[in-house]
Amino acid sequence: MTDLKYLRGYPEPLLAQVRQLIAEERLGDYLQRRYPGRHQVQSDKALYGYVQTLKQEYLKSAPPIDKVLYDNRLDLTHRALGLHTAVSRVQGGKLKAKKEIRVAALFREAAPEFLQMIVVHELAHLRESEHNRAFYKLCEHMLPGYGRSSSTCGCSCIGGSCRVADQPPGVDGFGHPPYRPVRSGACVG
Ligand SMILES: [Zn+2]
Repeated sequence: MTDLKYLRGYPEPLLAQVRQLIAEERLGDYLQRRYPGRHQVQSDKALYGYVQTLKQEYLKSAPPIDKVLYDNRLDLTHRALGLHTAVSRVQGGKLKAKKEIRVAALFREAAPEFLQMIVVHELAHLRESEHNRAFYKLCEHMLPGYGRSSSTCGCSCIGGSCRVADQPPGVDGFGHPPYRPVRSGACVG
């Protein structure tokens, strides 16, 4: 089975889907039976709306999200399913932090449960940068059962932490020179 150690912060069924997409072995049938649905969130605009609705409901006071998109390079370049970044750039003489959430494009063709897990995970990072108890409590609040789906201990305390890296100005990995990333977290466990 494909080792996804670097994705440890995510629930097991989600990782199973990724393994399936990578290996297309017997697991595919199981997942197909258990999660037969396909969500309708197909564009970046729809994804933005989807994220905003969840945020509005559960994390109203968290900082606003400026951009949400499917990124077809995410799983390859960052080895991540989702990514949350806070990039700062000068706007009208002021330095403004812009928050972004990126979802690996492979989840465009996935069961609604999986998209929800990714989005809930990245939204929780608006408040908690680490995969700590508070982080999983927040995930659980937005998506009851989030932690239960972990194969590790059956509770919401799964290990792993987000890689939080400072990057030099002008290098954001996405080819956007005006952006000056101050902090980015890829959920790599
Ligand atoms: Zn994470």
